[in-house]
Amino acid sequence: MMRRSLIAGNWKMNGDRAMTAQWCARVARELGREYAADGVGKVAAAGGVADAGGAYFANANDDDAAEIAVCPPHILISAAVDALAGSCVGVGAQDLDANESGAFTGQTSARMLADGGCRYVIVGHSERRALYHESDQSAAQKAHTARAAGLCAILCVGETRAERDAGDTEKVLARQLDAFLDALCGDAPGYSAAPAGVVAYEPVWAIGSGRAATPQQAQAAHHFLRARIAARDARVAAQCRILYGGSVSGGNAAELLAQPDIDGALVGGASLKADDFLAICGAAS
Ligand code: PEP
Repeated sequence: MMRRSLIAGNWKMNGDRAMTAQWCARVARELGREYAADGVGKVAAAGGVADAGGAYFANANDDDAAEIAVCPPHILISAAVDALAGSCVGVGAQDLDANESGAFTGQTSARMLADGGCRYVIVGHSERRALYHESDQSAAQKAHTARAAGLCAILCVGETRAERDAGDTEKVLARQLDAFLDALCGDAPGYSAAPAGVVAYEPVWAIGSGRAATPQQAQAAHHFLRARIAARDARVAAQCRILYGGSVSGGNAAELLAQPDIDGALVGGASLKADDFLAICGAAS
């Protein structure tokens, strides 16, 4: 089955209001300004785009155009939502709290994110796992809460260099993914009822290193993840998008995205500059 590519930018703790305004104006101008009727960020005809970058989306009306999203820091989400209103670019958050509301100082709930215009939320990013002690179970719980609020959860999984060198890549991926599937599938029917989840394979050793996994390494991991989902539910596995993340750039995106089980990219550093991000979006369309 055809899975629609998703390119999502993760700004991490970068950006300010001026950068957000400029980035959003540039990306919205380049990608066209119409929503698909289903509300999913579909690249519409880039009518009126006169500059050279318009060529990225020369066939922008095609159904195989990529879905595009950006995940700024919480404080910039509302500026991004306003600046991207009516464009094909969806907005997401980088984390959320698994609780619904209450005495959780500093936290943001799924309902708040949805109410604020988010359609996506990243959970279990390796930086949250390493720096803020996020567990497989808490990432899974967050994904569950996000989906119940109508958000598309992007669950990050990935091994460290030491884990890869020890031959433990599949063991780690299985552990991280299983917690997610346990929380989401439970009894299989529940899984399909909620908005589709997205998995992002992000080898920790590739993140921010400037050296992405090779397309073969990434494809092997993606294939493993899809097979593991298929062991629970073949239909979900066929539909579930598995993004690659870790030093994706305009230079390597096309090769990575050409792999059969790579359905898009989660982009950190290269999402901060609109032109770099647009080049990756172009490689996906
Ligand atoms: C990330 O941290 O999600 C990421 C993919 O970062 P980078 O693209 O900078 O490697």
